Amino acid sequence: MEVTNPATGERVDSYEEDGQDDVEAALETAVETFDSWRDRPLQERTDLLSNAAEVLRENEQRYAETMTEEMGKPITQAKSEVEKCAWVCEHYSEHASEYLDEKGHPSPAGSSVKTVYEPLGPVLAVMPWNFPFWQVFRFAAPYVTAGNVGLLKHASNVPGCSEAIEEVFREAGYPEGAFQSLLVSSDQVEGILEDERVKAATLTGSGPAGRSVAATAGENLKKTVLELGGSDPYVVLDDADVEAAAETGAWARVQNGGQSCIAAKRFIVHTDVYDEFEEKFVEQMESYTVGDPTDEETEIGPQARESLLEDLHEQVEDSVDAGADLLTGGEPLDREGAYYPPTVLANVPEGCPVDSEEVFGPAAPVYEVEDEEEAIRKANDTQFGLGASVWSEDRERGERLAGRIDAGCVYVNQLVKSDPRVPFGGIKESGYGRELSGAGMREFVNRKTVWVE
Ligand code: NDP
Repeated sequence: MEVTNPATGERVDSYEEDGQDDVEAALETAVETFDSWRDRPLQERTDLLSNAAEVLRENEQRYAETMTEEMGKPITQAKSEVEKCAWVCEHYSEHASEYLDEKGHPSPAGSSVKTVYEPLGPVLAVMPWNFPFWQVFRFAAPYVTAGNVGLLKHASNVPGCSEAIEEVFREAGYPEGAFQSLLVSSDQVEGILEDERVKAATLTGSGPAGRSVAATAGENLKKTVLELGGSDPYVVLDDADVEAAAETGAWARVQNGGQSCIAAKRFIVHTDVYDEFEEKFVEQMESYTVGDPTDEETEIGPQARESLLEDLHEQVEDSVDAGADLLTGGEPLDREGAYYPPTVLANVPEGCPVDSEEVFGPAAPVYEVEDEEEAIRKANDTQFGLGASVWSEDRERGERLAGRIDAGCVYVNQLVKSDPRVPFGGIKESGYGRELSGAGMREFVNRKTVWVE
């Protein structure tokens, strides 16, 4: 596997791909480890998770640098990502016993009935490059603590991150096999998932990848959780704090180079505040420092791969050809590396790429709508249903609208974020199942009923 630094276009590293024998050995180790790992007292598993948080913090700079080199994330955002991973470890270390606490049921006299949560076994995680540490810890912290063992197939452009994450578990004192990184291509996923030793799979990534994994899992009757991206609406109502909405909205679009499933992707603005919003939003989008991701001042680095920049630019160009007005940006930067500037489009025709597809980069369509009803219609006019943001100074109105938006989460007067304390996931083509919180932890467990007469 070749690693190309997207900031320079240079090949910086290469890794030997795991072959059939390596995969076989990893599956054997996973099964052997699972046999004893599942019976370790929960307290021991949560202590190890606290250790993992410490290892992450001790090595924050090094792990952040690996992310920055492999996928171009600005170094300050990479460090925050490592910190967030430590947080999710601490969260589950503290709350796992409450999330997995057996649940009693009303029982007939003389009997006792309860639900206990038991692990399933080796879980395969197919993960993307955009938050190369966070996406992995989001699955590993709860599922491995629940007594499962993890097998990671990371995106091919971040093998160094994959190995570094395995190191975190090793350094934290986990048994070999509790968490293993497999350096395999996507072609090998089907065979691994078909193997009877693998009990379930979780995937974060594109729709086609999700469908493929879900099809194999379905054929083999294995449970999956899918997190497949979105086209989150960002609705600004007539009574919104427009300045705050523009400032937060721009950041919600461009952070991580715009490569986030829960980035604000379609800006839907009430006609009464449209002009003011558009002006402030464009101003904010133009204010960011785009450049070398290793520089602490940089806010937007390169796109993670040259091919992703090309896809993004094609979406913008095709939308302009279809009649959209370009307000700022719209051309790759004339410098080495996969740099794309913050871009804003207005008067966007229905069905053009930036309107109907997931835009995984710092390009934002802005829509003017007549009223609340039109805003809701436009917000729901997408095949995706991951997150949404609604802006109104009237919190009750915001909450009422939240109830009418088809999404896995709606944030009022805030950008959409994933937080260990609350469930995270989508509906429609954004996938199914939930990650994080108690709901996420209980996705890959056997909810076993035990009836004692
Ligand atoms: P992919 O969905 O192709 O990659 C995500 C992960 O899935 C990688 O580990 C990849 O492996 C793996 N994968 C890809 N195809 C298959 C398959 N058929 N079977 C099993 N595993 C597979 O995303 P891309 O990197 O190509 O990005 C393309 C677009 O996907 C983005 O522009 C964005 O729209 C969306 N995306 C959404 C993400 C999100 O957070 N929701 C994250 C990443 C992408 P490998 O790298 O080896 O191909």
